Formats: sequence, C-alpha cells, structure tokens
Amino acid sequence: MSFQDPMKTYSTELRVRTRAALDFVNITDIVIQAVRKSGVKDGLVNVFIPHTTVGLFINEDENGLKRDIGEVLSNLVPERAGYMHDEVDYNAHAHIKSIILSSSTTIPISDGRPMIGTWQSIFLAEFDGPRERRIIVKVIGADVD
Ligand code: ZN
Repeated sequence: MSFQDPMKTYSTELRVRTRAALDFVNITDIVIQAVRKSGVKDGLVNVFIPHTTVGLFINEDENGLKRDIGEVLSNLVPERAGYMHDEVDYNAHAHIKSIILSSSTTIPISDGRPMIGTWQSIFLAEFDGPRERRIIVKVIGADVD
C-alpha cells in the first residue's frame, strides 16, 4: 500500500446473544467475514462493543483456559462485595471486569485477513448476561496490497 492508494472505510454492526451471566463468545469468524466483505486488503480493523458490562480480549479458545480466565476475574472482582453501584442495579462487578478488559481492539489486516495468530481468537466477554449484545466493526485501509 502507498499513500497514492485511496483509503476506504467500511462499517457494520453485528449482534450476538450471550448465553449465561458469565460467557465468552468467540467472534473471530464474524470479524474475518466483516473484513472480507469490506474489500480492504491492507489496513486495520477495529472491533468495538458499545456496552458497559462486556469486555473484549484476544486469546486461545481452549475450554480449560476460558474457565481459568473466568475464575481469575471472579476472584479479582467478586460479586456483591459492598460496591456502591450495587445499590442501583446489582452489577458493579460486571462494570469493573469490563474495564479490566477493554471495549475495543484493533487488528492489522494483510492480504484481506486480520493478522491474528494461529492460536488467537477474538472473544466478547459477557459479565452480565444473558443478553443480546452489539458489536461495531470498522475497517479502514486500501483495497490493494
Ligand atoms: Zn450497572
């Protein structure tokens, strides 16, 4: 890609349904599909979740590891530990876990694919489910390599 190549942008909003209070949903395939649909061959993809009790992380999709991650986060931020926000809606732990992770992640694109590693998956981490959640995917870059 050079500075002469026109930049293009592409946005899409996707929805996933989480299945439990704590749930890690692998959204790698829908991000790969969005990048493919964008036509961008060389650029960046930003994945953003417009919610306050959900996080994003990139790691291995292995059941034992997902249990470990859930347990570590629950030990770090136990439920109903005297939080002020629980006087409003009982989900302070979910908000705090959300900021320990992140609301967005950006991945480089090469050859029309996000450059995630062989063992990497993109996860939406639900902390206050089950619910329907929105995912905003924005792709910027050039349609040539
Ligand atoms: Zn709340």
